[in-house]
Amino acid sequence: MYDNQDSPQRVSLLGSTGSIGINTLDVIKRNQRRYRVHALSAYRQVNKLFTQCLEFEPDIAVIGNESDSTWLQEQLRNHGLETQVRAGQQALIEIASCPESDIVMAAIVGAAGLEPTLAAAQVGKKVLLANKESLVITGELFMAAVRAGGAQLLPVDSEHNAIFQALPTDYADKVSKNARCDSSDHGVRRLILTASGGPFRSIPTDQFVDITPEAACAHPNWSMGKKISVDSATMMNKGLEVIEACWLFKLPPDQVDVVLHPQSIVHSLVEYIDGSILAQMGNPDMRTPIAHALAYPERIEAGTPPLDLCRVAHLDFEKPDVKRFPCLQLAYDCLSIGGLAPAVLNAANEVAVDAFLARKLSFTRIVAVIDSCLEKAAGMFPSAAIATLPDILEADQESRRMAAAKVEQFALT
Ligand code: NAD
Ligand code: MG
Repeated sequence: MYDNQDSPQRVSLLGSTGSIGINTLDVIKRNQRRYRVHALSAYRQVNKLFTQCLEFEPDIAVIGNESDSTWLQEQLRNHGLETQVRAGQQALIEIASCPESDIVMAAIVGAAGLEPTLAAAQVGKKVLLANKESLVITGELFMAAVRAGGAQLLPVDSEHNAIFQALPTDYADKVSKNARCDSSDHGVRRLILTASGGPFRSIPTDQFVDITPEAACAHPNWSMGKKISVDSATMMNKGLEVIEACWLFKLPPDQVDVVLHPQSIVHSLVEYIDGSILAQMGNPDMRTPIAHALAYPERIEAGTPPLDLCRVAHLDFEKPDVKRFPCLQLAYDCLSIGGLAPAVLNAANEVAVDAFLARKLSFTRIVAVIDSCLEKAAGMFPSAAIATLPDILEADQESRRMAAAKVEQFALT
């Protein structure tokens, strides 16, 4: 067990003002003797970051631009705080890789989180991975950095955290270090990711065209940031998670399945060759996987209310309909293409989701934008070669350009 004499572990929290960031701070607050905040970061929400700095007194705070940085530095000084304020991407990379932090929570949304998260892996941090996009777009390269850097990679995404918990401990340990391992040596036959199906699981598809950003962000079970909420509504989130699971758990796509489970109580399952299926269950509250990843291999208080099984009473499961949710199929397609395809998929999705949230694109055209980018980029995909970071960043930028042009084209029709 944890010894109170130990000094607290220092945490760099990338994306502290977001949904995962706020939940992480809540868990840290409940376990103050074990964890101390070394660094916090936000992009634009400088007021929220200011409030968090007052409460957690980090050594460093990072914000998106210089003028906010100057303002924040002055405010904190006026309050007698010695927090050093920095701005920009390079500062994010530094707080992710500096020797002063033991744990890095990667909770920036989208490809913007890639370079700091990768930097944390390269220097061997305990990396808590919420920012699934990093792993989706860099795949093999990211996992190689985990091994080479001697990092410990712990999944925060609830499905992957659930699978991690349902795997044999020695297999899970190897997964976290990206050590050599084979699922068949551990009797694992298949992973089953659960998906709630989002808010549009059962409405008639001819109503999809009228879906507003507000409706798409109103997830029935989870309270999350806007981008992942829209991804859940299109099921692109589950597609990204299938890619994430293949890299994390070293399984081919045909051993990673998705089932719809509208109650979001079973967070995912592992099927073994003897017919056993192990599930991890709990209330839909991200503090559980966050606490698990923070304390692994120990357990700490998360603040999540206990699950009342008798109140839940029913657990339903259905096959996902890829005609209703074509984004899920696109993600499987990109996995089989490999190379740069997942990077193109992710970037096009980020642009399309932004345009939808800004009311410049209809919900049904999100998939059309992604599809058109994948078609146009087909020539860019090297067959089985491992993509380099510059290749990936170029594919990301090129996909963003193509997606923006497609959004413009749609705006004219
Ligand atoms: P969010 O939008 O609520 O928060 C995002 C955070 O990233 C904020 O702190 C924001 O300031 C920061 N940020 C945004 N753009 C940035 C940029 N360009 N540069 C630097 N910082 C930037 O998002 P979230 O819902 O907390 O999700 C964060 C990540 O965790 C995503 O990758 C998401 O897929 C993953 N995730 C979230 C949940 C959830 O329940 N919210 C569950 C599983 C996985
Ligand atoms: Mg998830």
